[in-house]
Amino acid sequence: VSELRQDPVTGLWVAVATERAKRPHEFISAAKWGVETSGACPFCPGNESETPPEVMAYRMPGTAPDTPGWQVRVVPNLYPAFGPATGESAMRTEGPYRAMHALGVHEVLIITPEHRADIGALPLEDVKTLVRCYVDRYLAHRNDPTIEYITIVHNHGREAGASREHPHSQLFGIPLVPSAVETELAGLRRWREERAGCAYCDLVQYECKTGDRLVYENEQFVVFAPYASRVPFETWSIPKAHWGDFEAMNEGQQAQFADALRALLAKVVRGLNGVSFNYWIHSAPCRTAGGDLYHWHLELLPKLSIQAGFELGAGVMIETVPPEQAAAFLRGVDVEGAFGR
Ligand SMILES: [Zn+2]
Ligand SMILES: [Zn+2]
Ligand SMILES: [Zn+2]
Repeated sequence: VSELRQDPVTGLWVAVATERAKRPHEFISAAKWGVETSGACPFCPGNESETPPEVMAYRMPGTAPDTPGWQVRVVPNLYPAFGPATGESAMRTEGPYRAMHALGVHEVLIITPEHRADIGALPLEDVKTLVRCYVDRYLAHRNDPTIEYITIVHNHGREAGASREHPHSQLFGIPLVPSAVETELAGLRRWREERAGCAYCDLVQYECKTGDRLVYENEQFVVFAPYASRVPFETWSIPKAHWGDFEAMNEGQQAQFADALRALLAKVVRGLNGVSFNYWIHSAPCRTAGGDLYHWHLELLPKLSIQAGFELGAGVMIETVPPEQAAAFLRGVDVEGAFGR
């Protein structure tokens, strides 16, 4: 568990590891490690004792917890960035600074028993199961009084920060609304005051009409390359209807979202040769203002570029692939069919 520290000028929060801090020499050897490929994988069936006890699993009738027979298995992160309180008060000050304990939850969602499952070629049924698991875990935590915000992220590949090859997502329940979402909320509020309506609804409508940046759409979801993409082949999936809470999806909407997510993953992973990527879900805050203002979505950023001095210093990304070209390319990639690495 770490400590949340706030930059007093920008307001940005940083989670600083206090208990299990890395020593400087660990960074030197870390560069040589890849994603581990051999040895016992704690996420594979048969190795359930290598993880903390499961908090949820979809498993075959008659199989016991922490034994094989599961399709999806959720366990607490062995080294959580956010976790239960350890006694001290939540918020404290130090001179001009503010800090608080990183209260919350940090879970690992093992989305398939198959170590080498290719996330770009998952059958629709498996993606539906993944989406159901995401919704279930949101619902499990959204009424926890210490949690202000829940996000689910998926890291794929070493360059994207995945420390294990076995496909898994992570849920973070944190005690504040992250600045990325605060920024979006402020923009949505401004848009509503100036033009009425929801910015994301307007974008979806425009992207569907023009089609230049459209990658995929079904009845209820659209997948597109955002107009101001931050990295090459950035792609979003967003519901066509206005709604703020990811976890409010019913079964039919979950199936539609699974179809859109599967198309997005297949096109990005196949089209870009198994590229590393991160995706995350942005949903409305659990309690604080947001209400009917927010419009949830999934953002996927492939790891094809490295931020250099200007990007880091100015916060202005230099985009080398126009989103219109990226979208045209991804539109042409088949969702079905063979895929070899
Ligand atoms: Zn494994
Ligand atoms: Zn909207
Ligand atoms: Zn967002």
